[in-house]
Amino acid sequence: MTIVWHTDMTAREYAAAGEDLEVPRPDCPDCVRAMVFWGSYDRPVRIGTIELRLRIRRAMCKSCCSSHALLPDLVAVGRLDPVEVIGEAVAEMASGATAGAIARRISLPYTTVRDWRRRLASRARLLSAGLLAATVALGDLVGLLPVGEVLAAICAVTAAAHACRRRFAINGSDWTVANLVAGGHLFSANTDPPWIAA
Ligand SMILES: [Zn+2]
Repeated sequence: MTIVWHTDMTAREYAAAGEDLEVPRPDCPDCVRAMVFWGSYDRPVRIGTIELRLRIRRAMCKSCCSSHALLPDLVAVGRLDPVEVIGEAVAEMASGATAGAIARRISLPYTTVRDWRRRLASRARLLSAGLLAATVALGDLVGLLPVGEVLAAICAVTAAAHACRRRFAINGSDWTVANLVAGGHLFSANTDPPWIAA
């Protein structure tokens, strides 16, 4: 499983931190005991035309023997590009920009950008439901949503991020913090958000 933690670092800063990277040590999500760090692995993240490696630490619970990857909220499970890049692109497309224009500007394949839009559209209702439930659980009110499932989902991203920042006194872009709320599954390729699977 994955535990997502919040970082104010950019992907470049995270990659450059190397052995100096400080990751908060979590409690076990199953039995709430303090976990111990238990190795790490590298995963790629794409910044425009270059690919960096992010060191992802793992933690293990000695009590119930579960282990978890500690994923920074700047990336989503199963996605090569930072959530902020994907989020800004889908928001632009929801406002009328074409996938081709965005792909050229950020130097990525057209099919990649088109897939982001399709994936968000296919999960928009699920994301809205989960993010708005989280918004309420975090103590914020939910206002009127715009017409259209994708626009409503983007609005839900903003609402959940606002509620989370206020509740936990953290910074971060709407997309990054919403990914934290979604347990790393804001733009997952194949997995529904945890609140849907539960
Ligand atoms: Zn445990």
